[in-house]
Amino acid sequence: MRIQDILTDGRIHLSCEIFPPKAFSGMEQAASLTREIASLHPDFISVTYGHGTHSDRTATARIAHTISKEYGIPAVAHLTALYSDKAKIDEALDMFEEAGVSAVLALRGDYIDGEQLVGEFNHASDLVSYIRSVKPDFKVFGACYPEGHYQADSLDQDIENLKIKVDAGVTHLISQLFYDNEDFYRFLDKARAAGITVPIEAGIMPVRGAKSVRRMAERNASRIPDKLNTLLNKWGDDIQSLRAAGILYASEQIADLVAHDVDGVHLYSMNHPATTRRIWRNAEPLFRGTQG
Ligand code: FAD
Repeated sequence: MRIQDILTDGRIHLSCEIFPPKAFSGMEQAASLTREIASLHPDFISVTYGHGTHSDRTATARIAHTISKEYGIPAVAHLTALYSDKAKIDEALDMFEEAGVSAVLALRGDYIDGEQLVGEFNHASDLVSYIRSVKPDFKVFGACYPEGHYQADSLDQDIENLKIKVDAGVTHLISQLFYDNEDFYRFLDKARAAGITVPIEAGIMPVRGAKSVRRMAERNASRIPDKLNTLLNKWGDDIQSLRAAGILYASEQIADLVAHDVDGVHLYSMNHPATTRRIWRNAEPLFRGTQG
């Protein structure tokens, strides 16, 4: 099925993110991961893209190719632009097209200490406009931040910038992870009030370790609500119990999001198919027959 048809079928969507394993030798691992995630039949699978000049930029296309050609599931290829010129972006877009991908998540990417900026794409919106001009048939997704991007002065300022990105041609947004649904609902209200009308998928990341949650929260300037902090304090040193609690926490977040008729839920698999499968089993029945 084409992603265009899935995204306009009126249902609440359940999708998933995976990332290419670091080393080239990890492609075997990628094959089994892709098979396991594909067996859950998500509405689409997005594949992350390395940033900086040293990452393997073909891995995203190869995994996306397997997802779309072997499993018939629409793939969304992420693409970062801060350290690329137009020629590199053209190369990536052609690679994606050959891999059967027709949707790209257009990203600025993060700054890397010591790496030389190219200066052709300073914001994701620059990349969005460029993709629109060279591949007008591609669906262009964008990232959004329910608690505000860590470099923005405020959530309101970040939403003003998000509007520029959407106006440049984004057709769909996927959110950064958040642990308190109220933050997402507040963001949705503000985004809609600012005239952002495209569908917004809620990004959910299962808790897999206390340290990683705290590190990620610090990096993204995001909040750990009291309810989650209690779990981290109780089972921070008992990884099996914390992961079990994390599966329940993510499942409960998803149930609440579906009950609020969000446009979709995007599950960050963190390349852990067992955790993903358990959340999927809990959540998937809630998505059957939904009308978003
Ligand atoms: P932008 O939309 O450009 O925003 C970045 C900052 O600039 C914000 O503070 C924004 O308010 C501001 N801004 C935006 N436009 C303007 C403007 N016109 N004028 C002034 N200020 C502006 N990283 C990877 O390396 N690979 C991935 O595959 C990847 N996937 C991701 C998927 C999702 C769903 C999300 C939420 C993030 C992902 N990231 C990934 C991380 C992302 O690269 C970083 O969050 C990065 O810091 C911002 O990227 P962006 O595309 O949101 O940037």
